[in-house]
Amino acid sequence: MSTVALLSRDTLLLTQLQKAFAEHAPQLRTVLADDPAIAEAQVAACWFPPEGHLGLMPHLQLVHSVAAGVDHLATDRSGAAVPVCRVVDPDHRRGMTEYVRWAVLNFHRDFDRVARQQRDNHWLRHPQRPAASFKVGVMGLGSLGSAIASDLAGAGYAVNGWARSMRTLQGINVFNGDSQFDGFLDGLDVLINLLPLTEATRGILCRKTFDALAFGAVIVNVGRGQHLHIDDLRQALASGQLRGAVLDVFEQEPLTPNDPLWQTPGVIITPHMASAASHECIARQVAENVRRLHAGEPLNNRVDPALGY
Ligand code: NDP
Repeated sequence: MSTVALLSRDTLLLTQLQKAFAEHAPQLRTVLADDPAIAEAQVAACWFPPEGHLGLMPHLQLVHSVAAGVDHLATDRSGAAVPVCRVVDPDHRRGMTEYVRWAVLNFHRDFDRVARQQRDNHWLRHPQRPAASFKVGVMGLGSLGSAIASDLAGAGYAVNGWARSMRTLQGINVFNGDSQFDGFLDGLDVLINLLPLTEATRGILCRKTFDALAFGAVIVNVGRGQHLHIDDLRQALASGQLRGAVLDVFEQEPLTPNDPLWQTPGVIITPHMASAASHECIARQVAENVRRLHAGEPLNNRVDPALGY
């Protein structure tokens, strides 16, 4: 029987994963970090693993993120250099699509403005703007970004997409690489970040990026908190260059109760809830990769260590 170590600082998540593995992957034995049997584990399934825990596994052969992103694995640098995989859940796409649709509609149809007006008992109709004249840009056209871009194009928005490598996506104006970044940003009304966090993408939501958007544009950050330069965001909101920001991810999570961002006008905060893989899907995908590992077959959703995603 293969042993999988479940590693996270989130104790509720650990309990939920233990239950899901017992139900959907009973062929695997799961252990937590305080169990001496962790020394027998060949696989670690992780979400922000505490520092030092990967180093407790001399037989480690695979590190599996239980999410789409893998940047959180850097919180524990004690592991051996073994393959890293991530979870890609079709329902993940659905959740992210719902979230981004809501965020875009909120500004496209002026719900942000009328919500403020209601606080002042103020009746004012804003001119209705066709979706086709609302320019939306999606940074990152991977498993999630490509689904979001296609959904928004299907809803009638004018959609630009940006990725590292070139590809064709029906109905999307695709840009690629650093040389086409400015062209991608030019005049966007909404910028949606669905990039992984890597050294190349850290801090990409900064003043220079905001200045290339339409005046009064909006950003939706569902990537990672470290993509966003907070001081630049505050300045852009204060100057009116940005009309609003929907933020789901933060450098420190949870965001502390006294963080000034909570009360920054124009900012909508959600608690890293845009989308999550189901616990059943995590258990099944980890189990399938454990099977593949032992059978010597190629692993699913393997991360390229050179690219970091
Ligand atoms: P993928 O790895 O499938 O896609 C990443 C995309 O980003 C690819 O299109 C890739 O380009 C592009 N990219 C990477 N680096 C660069 C770069 N330097 N310049 C331009 N484009 C780049 O990731 P997913 O779609 O599965 O997930 C994206 C991110 O979303 C995750 O890493 C995670 O941080 C975040 N996320 C947030 C959630 C939330 O609830 N807020 C939930 C799930 C994920 P190419 O195609 O050319 O390789």
